[in-house]
Amino acid sequence: MTFFAFDTHCHLQFSDFDADRGEVLARMKEQKIGAVVVGTDLASSKAAVELARQHDFLWAAVGLHPNDNLDELFDVPAFEALAADPKVVGIGECGLDYFRETTAAMREAQKDRFEKHVELAHKVGKPLIIHCRPSAGTTDAHDDLLALLANTRAKYPDISAIAHFFTGSRELMERYLALGCYISFPCVITFTDMYDDAVRATPLDRLLVETDSPYAAPKSHRGRRNEPAFVAESIGRIAEIKAAPADEIALTTVQNARMVFNL
Ligand SMILES: [Zn+2]
Repeated sequence: MTFFAFDTHCHLQFSDFDADRGEVLARMKEQKIGAVVVGTDLASSKAAVELARQHDFLWAAVGLHPNDNLDELFDVPAFEALAADPKVVGIGECGLDYFRETTAAMREAQKDRFEKHVELAHKVGKPLIIHCRPSAGTTDAHDDLLALLANTRAKYPDISAIAHFFTGSRELMERYLALGCYISFPCVITFTDMYDDAVRATPLDRLLVETDSPYAAPKSHRGRRNEPAFVAESIGRIAEIKAAPADEIALTTVQNARMVFNL
């Protein structure tokens, strides 16, 4: 299949799309947009796999978000069974989230949850999709996550990882890059120049785009629901920042998605 663009991270299985999912999917098909539908707990991971099975331009990722579902334990056998599905191309989203107040014990629990995803990713040979959000004005969660990732690298040198929803400095981007990560930029880059330096410095062979839809819509739909087809707007913005043709950015990010997800 030939794609114009590839959204590496969306939540099309969420109820936000229940009323018009068919139309959203039709727009993707028409515009040749592929996507990975990402789970945030066991139920939404199952739903992601179900949806991906029905469409040849969708794949799925399965995982347990660091703090969206604090009461849910990471059910290793259940996730392992799901991860064996050929439509599952990633493990996540998983990671660390200190944005909401976290106690030391909560941080340790998040790290433990992340390590379980690392073991699963290694076992099934699929990339990690990493969510990382520090507390305001700090890089605390990134510092902890990069330390865990460095250990992971030492233990399992060939695990791939994607820094999902990357919104940070060039320096932070380079720390992820040094650990072999792909950098996935959200549509946020269409309405702020805060991440332009990081975009400019991300090597073309590590660059990915995503919507995280229904969240974080681009400038043209700001404050409203996002959808995978809007990823084209980010591609246009990246092309401007990198002073490169948009077609080249689109093609490169599709190739990178194929590479990291083994499509
Ligand atoms: Zn997400």
